[in-house]
Amino acid sequence: AKIRIYKVAEQLGMPTHEVMDILKALGSDVKNHMSSIDEEYIELLQEEREYRKKEEEKNRKRKERTIQLKESPHLKDIARLLDMHWEDIVIKLADWNVIFDSKKPLPPLVVERLAREKNWEIIWEDSLREKTIEALQGGLGIRPPIVTVLGHVDHGKTTLLDAIRRSKVAQSEYGGITQKIGAYQIEVSNKKITFVDTPGHEAFTAMRARGAQVTDIAILVVAADDGVMPQTIEALQHAKAADVSIIVAINKIDKSGANPDRIKQQLSDYGLVPEEWGGDTIFVNISALQKKGINDLLEMILLQAELLELKARHQGYATGTIIESRLDRGKGPVATVIVKEGTLKIGDFFVAGATWGKVRSLFSVNGKKVKEAIPSMPVEIVGFSELPPAGTQYMVIEDEKIARLIANQKQLKEREKSLKGSSAQITSLEELLSPEEGKKRELNIILKADFQGSLDAIEKVLSQIGSEEVSIKVLSKGVGNINEADVVLAAASNGIVIGFDVKLPSEVSKNAKREGVDVRLYRIIYDVIDDLQNAIKGMATPKQ
Ligand code: GDP
Repeated sequence: AKIRIYKVAEQLGMPTHEVMDILKALGSDVKNHMSSIDEEYIELLQEEREYRKKEEEKNRKRKERTIQLKESPHLKDIARLLDMHWEDIVIKLADWNVIFDSKKPLPPLVVERLAREKNWEIIWEDSLREKTIEALQGGLGIRPPIVTVLGHVDHGKTTLLDAIRRSKVAQSEYGGITQKIGAYQIEVSNKKITFVDTPGHEAFTAMRARGAQVTDIAILVVAADDGVMPQTIEALQHAKAADVSIIVAINKIDKSGANPDRIKQQLSDYGLVPEEWGGDTIFVNISALQKKGINDLLEMILLQAELLELKARHQGYATGTIIESRLDRGKGPVATVIVKEGTLKIGDFFVAGATWGKVRSLFSVNGKKVKEAIPSMPVEIVGFSELPPAGTQYMVIEDEKIARLIANQKQLKEREKSLKGSSAQITSLEELLSPEEGKKRELNIILKADFQGSLDAIEKVLSQIGSEEVSIKVLSKGVGNINEADVVLAAASNGIVIGFDVKLPSEVSKNAKREGVDVRLYRIIYDVIDDLQNAIKGMATPKQ
């Protein structure tokens, strides 16, 4: 049967023009509300009507939850738009390690994340997002490389650091240095290099475990008479895990029995292939004791730094990393910071972990008073409320009240954690089971075994049990019992330690517990496979 359009509209509670609209879209040639159509169309019209209603509703809701930005957003604007306290936003920024400067706009990603947390969507007008980023990036400049010296015990790390320092720091100034303050800076061919003065990969990785990666280039020292030793390999693996470039210094070439080629050969097996053999690793022969080859080494560091194109923001408030801290009788708590970004000035308020303060005075590492410190420069700060541990992130905060607030909150959090008896990160197989969205997950493994043979066998098996969603990555492997270095590496890289037929000394075990690192001991290779396969399955499929 036929029915007139105005009747249909009445029946469905739709405006006639909409009914006609839909019918026309179907290809029918309706003229006006008096035209008639087949009754069969009614069901379809109804469906279409409902669908359109839902879409409209969705659109309306979407519009309600969007904020249109026409100008680069500043803290107080965003606070008002999102109905938040600006102090809370500043505290969040510190949590995310983002510098807050009231003269500058908030970084776009920060704005978007804040909005998302409150269920709002940000829409940037035209190229505003890019413009805002540009406004924030002003003053990006070259910065000196930061270098750490790693290697086996007694291979000459300390002697090398000393030789470099003595050769480049004027004797008169050198005499004035009474305290070891964790870092120094030298100048070669008008270019600066910063050295972290605490050699060894344990210290290096322990800092990384706290989230501090200060090093750009690692010098791997190998004594030419002794060759590649277990700790050489360990150091190399730690440097690789941290993704820093490595320069090999073959030391003690003055000694009889020195054999640089053997070292090149040995290290090539670990992926450090010298340039003359077609690789891209720089090797330099030196004698730290006789101060030979030091200049070559320094030139190579500068060359490498140039390749790395190291840059940092020079203007604005500073961020940095605590390298060392000590209680000075006259000055009170002091700490050495290597500035990462910005310019650190006297009078700045700051937070460093759970401590805060105001920069009362700044000293260069040669003990001279300075007014400010720029990126990569190590500087001693006087003005802490308490001693911050090495590896803590340091950050200038515009407002004293906020600095204190942030430090207090951190203190509360730390206290809560210590009450619960666990440290910052818990890395257990079980915890790794809860997957993040949409990303191939990696299970980082530190592998120890009793023999090279078992090590190779297990590694081979491990390489076969990764899945499409999860890959297994052996960060370091070695023969021998599980040690401190293994635990700090696991903590720093969110990994687990697997020991095959080796021991876990009780001291190391305690440390692992404190750091929340999962250490698993096995005697049967099938148990390793079973456990890891289960872990991978768990990582791949979301637990409901
Ligand atoms: P570290 O444990 O790696 O810091 O090694 P050290 O710097 O303490 O050096 C260990 C020993 O090797 C010391 O007795 C140094 O004097 C010696 N040594 C360091 N460099 C050289 C070198 O180039 N030639 C020689 N013959 N001995 C060196």
